[in-house]
Amino acid sequence: MNFDGKVVIVTGGTRGIGLETVRAFASLGAKVILFGSKEETVNKAVETLEGEGYRVEGFYPNLSNYEEVLETITKIKNKYGKIDVLINNAGISANKKIEETSSEDFESIMNLNVNAMFNVTKAVVPFMKENKDGVILNTSSMVSIYGQPSGVGYPASKFAVNGLTKSLARELAPFNIRVNAVAPGITKTDMVASLPESMIEPLIKTIPLGRIGEPRDIANAFLFLASDMASYITGVILSVDGLAMN
Ligand code: NAD
Repeated sequence: MNFDGKVVIVTGGTRGIGLETVRAFASLGAKVILFGSKEETVNKAVETLEGEGYRVEGFYPNLSNYEEVLETITKIKNKYGKIDVLINNAGISANKKIEETSSEDFESIMNLNVNAMFNVTKAVVPFMKENKDGVILNTSSMVSIYGQPSGVGYPASKFAVNGLTKSLARELAPFNIRVNAVAPGITKTDMVASLPESMIEPLIKTIPLGRIGEPRDIANAFLFLASDMASYITGVILSVDGLAMN
């Protein structure tokens, strides 16, 4: 598999699943542009990847602001001439019970996990249409299939991600733009890595494959879905969770 000459944008690319996804595409020849929420974390991620020998670039537009997103996307298109792959990965989670969840909490999770995905996708689609080619990949979650017993905004947002994915797959297929999502199970990013062994062990017992996911497991799924090997796949929510339940 190679992505030589491909221009790939990854939102939430500064750490965790996103950072590993940037690394995976860059190692296969893509020109990768990562987005993060702050200048400082974006610069740190770019520095880390450059130290590993990859050429990447970083931006930190406010993803809630369509005009700001469009300005950044247009800058990228003008510099590289096209955008081949968009990976909408930025996301936050929640775990409060409904009585403790404020309207602002609910709005802020929908704002990043859904509205920001809409904004970036809307900005990129005209350029992909112009090119009659493109791949849009969204990070969903296992909770978009099962729900979760607290933090209702998080599964609600990921069900919406699946809705965006399936609907845009149908809308954009005539323009040779494929839209798919990856639904990770529990994955060893900063949040999970900081949990004590006593919490991780019982979780692992519920996973038939006997381990929690690595960011690389999710990055591999993105590589496959972005590649020509998946050229006849669109509108799919691909579970990458070791659960053997789909
Ligand atoms: P993470 O917290 O390590 O990384 C989140 C990324 O999102 C960071 O790059 C951060 O800069 C970006 N981000 C956060 N708030 C932002 C904001 N307001 N504006 C712009 N960017 C912002 O998380 P992760 O575990 O790597 O999660 C990445 C994606 O995977 C998320 O969509 C998450 O819902 C999903 N996911 C994670 C797991 C898991 O177990 N880790 C499981 C299922 C789904």
